[in-house]
Amino acid sequence: MVTAAHRMMPPMEYVRLHDEAARLDGVIAIHSTARGPAAGGCRLWTYPDASTAMADAFRLAEGMSYKNAMAELPFGGGKAVLRKPEGDFNRRALFEAFGAAVERLGGRYVTAEDVGTSVADMEFVANKTRHVAGRTSRPGFAGGDPSPWTALGVFEAMKAAVKFRFGGSLSGVTVAVQGVGSVGGELCRLLSEAGAKLVIADIDAARCEKLAADIGASVAPINAIVQADADVFAPCALGGALTETSVNAMKARLVCGAANNQLGDTRAAALLVERGIAYAPDYVVNAGGIINVSAEYLGETTQQVQERVLQIGPRTEAILRDAALRKLSPALVADRMAEDLMRKAVAEPA
Ligand code: NAD
Repeated sequence: MVTAAHRMMPPMEYVRLHDEAARLDGVIAIHSTARGPAAGGCRLWTYPDASTAMADAFRLAEGMSYKNAMAELPFGGGKAVLRKPEGDFNRRALFEAFGAAVERLGGRYVTAEDVGTSVADMEFVANKTRHVAGRTSRPGFAGGDPSPWTALGVFEAMKAAVKFRFGGSLSGVTVAVQGVGSVGGELCRLLSEAGAKLVIADIDAARCEKLAADIGASVAPINAIVQADADVFAPCALGGALTETSVNAMKARLVCGAANNQLGDTRAAALLVERGIAYAPDYVVNAGGIINVSAEYLGETTQQVQERVLQIGPRTEAILRDAALRKLSPALVADRMAEDLMRKAVAEPA
């Protein structure tokens, strides 16, 4: 995945994590605390070496600064990346050791789940620190699985972006969804209720077939979903779906989906502009999960989460409109807006 060339990468603060007994090996990266504590999930993944894990943490922490600023949350950006131990390991020991490291940062970094970690893991982290979210929720209060909130945010963004790009509602619009897991699956249900036609693909064929039968979607082969005959392409699997090749092949005139880091090479953003394909920037669209996580940490209610997630629609539309007026990539417009919000926080601390 690429970091946009125009982004200024400040020196990254980081803490190396190492506890042999607990088999903890990783890094916490803090990109920005301009708007508040650095918030971002904890990823547990297999990396070939420590420097690859560190590079991933830096890139992800930077992304969280932009996402949190754009969602107008009182948080900066950070991320923890843990190298998955080989063979069997004790999750409790690993995540308690990680929690102790988070605690030593005294609230400068707030963690939550990410790829490879779960609510149960965050409960282990919480044995050692209160600077953790993504835990079991209490009725009426923010918390629990962030995926439904992410899906709602993507849905609201798509509704606004479809109105902007095609001048109508979602009813009768064809959406090609790549990846129908936690977020993509829920998004499909919301779209189906809104009258959209769906073409879906997932490497998990059984999951895909079941969803298609439930909501009346058609299934495309995984290597054909990007160029499906659709109005909207919704990347909801892994990052990097938008490349020179895939954008050239795309029939859709709008991209709006949940996946992080959708721009897979340096040509993709410019090519989307050249081909007249509106691109709803990934981190603007998929902020519902972090909105829920941040509200949980601050002890806020689900009502407050809902109000903030519904703002994703108008925010997406404003970015697409501004980008179209200035003939710029919406990704660039969003980055500049997020950077302004970060600079403003430095100039006028709360
Ligand atoms: P998930 O693992 O539940 O679902 C991903 C799905 O994509 C799986 O069903 C998987 O089989 C499928 N998939 C993987 N590679 C594929 C391919 N090449 N073609 C088609 N399908 C493929 O993950 P999720 O929580 O739904 O997250 C989806 C994306 O949204 C990820 O990029 C994630 O980083 C991003 N995201 C998620 C959240 C959240 O709240 N869960 C928040 C922000 C961003």
